Amino acid sequence: MSDLFMNYPTAHTLVRDGKIIFLNPAAIRLFGGVHAEQFIGQPVLDFIHPMDREYVRHRIALLGPDRRQNEPTEIRILTLDSQVRILATASAVAFAEDGGQVIIATGIDVTSFHRLQDELRSSEETFRRLFENMHDLFYRTNAADELTLIGPGVERVFGYRQAEVYGMPVANAYVIPAQRTQLWARLRKYGEINNRIVKLRHKDGHALDIAITAKMIFDDTGHFQGVEGLLRDVTEELRLRRELQILATIDNLTGLLNRRTFLEQANQAVGIVSRYREPMVFLIVDIDNFKEINDNLGHLLGDEAIRKIVAAGRSCLRENDIFGRLGGDEFGIILRQCEPTEALQICQRILARVREVRIRLRGKGADTHMSVSLGVTPVCRTDRPFARALARADRALYLAKSSGRCCCAYQALEGSPVLPLQAADSNPDLGAIRDHV
Ligand code: GH3
Ligand code: MG
Repeated sequence: MSDLFMNYPTAHTLVRDGKIIFLNPAAIRLFGGVHAEQFIGQPVLDFIHPMDREYVRHRIALLGPDRRQNEPTEIRILTLDSQVRILATASAVAFAEDGGQVIIATGIDVTSFHRLQDELRSSEETFRRLFENMHDLFYRTNAADELTLIGPGVERVFGYRQAEVYGMPVANAYVIPAQRTQLWARLRKYGEINNRIVKLRHKDGHALDIAITAKMIFDDTGHFQGVEGLLRDVTEELRLRRELQILATIDNLTGLLNRRTFLEQANQAVGIVSRYREPMVFLIVDIDNFKEINDNLGHLLGDEAIRKIVAAGRSCLRENDIFGRLGGDEFGIILRQCEPTEALQICQRILARVREVRIRLRGKGADTHMSVSLGVTPVCRTDRPFARALARADRALYLAKSSGRCCCAYQALEGSPVLPLQAADSNPDLGAIRDHV
């Protein structure tokens, strides 16, 4: 064979009667060998991948006097160390001097080209799967801030089909234009934004809470190309979070502030007392003989009684007074902008309203009355923690209970609690209370 043929960069193999009779150095290297003897005399099909053997056998069989060449194709070959390589190959037939057929096959190793293609295909597929199936919406805008790409989930989240929104100015989607201005200010400053929540409009007009994570994109020369990022619908998540927050602050049975929140607000109120000298009065309200009511009427009617008493109490209060359930049948009230004398009038009103509450005994005819006792004390600057005011009001409540219930007792900042029997100026004891305040 000529030197020229031996130095061909493509692999050449000659096959006669199905066996290899010659191969050039490029072919030896391709098949993973070192010298020709490793291959000469071997059946050529031994070096073809089992899945492609039938195909190759068929192609060889096609060659003959009427068909001198086969179209180029791709086949998988096996190297000496059993590696699979992909070959772009063409074959032709020639006739030896004795008339026998010799197959000439040439090939170029295209394995790495295929791997690249496979990798590209697989990463494209991964992106497509993500793009189409992920819960978040991938989106891209152009330099004019018009939407150029968005995941098909846009229909689920915003009610639009993909084609409807392509080319749409993103500004149209903002419910609050100032939010877009703020987002852009951050984007320009940091090049990206992370989980910023904005209100965007659904096709039918309602507002959605959308968390945006996005990045500015630039071309190789540094020109701004647009923005790409992810949109996540957090409307339901935020609604649940708000609901949970409310649940965590509210008492289920009465809808009043629960103990923790009441005490938090009470502590804040002490701050207002010390800063602005706003007069406030704290009341503890405890239902009288409630165990008995529960025992006689059952827990459900007991609950109803609690709700009715709370309604009666609320009807005596102003908007900005603070009303909470401290636990069981005990409630706390902070009367804002209220002097003790006025507080005692309010207490009398509460006592009277609660007396009007009727609990109907199912099937038993008669209604039953309810009453409460109150412990009253002014809120002062030193009531932080609020437990101090609680302790004073408790002392007064104890006096009210031990004096026969259905009344209020007053505990000044110092001294012993006293029982004001009637409201306001008609009450001879109020003078004594004023002295304590
Ligand atoms: P007193 O006049 O001295 O306050 O007597 P009382 O029977 O009301 O005694 P106390 O305040 O210690 O009892 C509170 C009772 O309230 C105990 C419990 O059975 C009842 N209770 C507490 N929480 C609830 C509730 O959510 N629903 C109902 N139905 N009953 C409750
Ligand atoms: Mg009670």
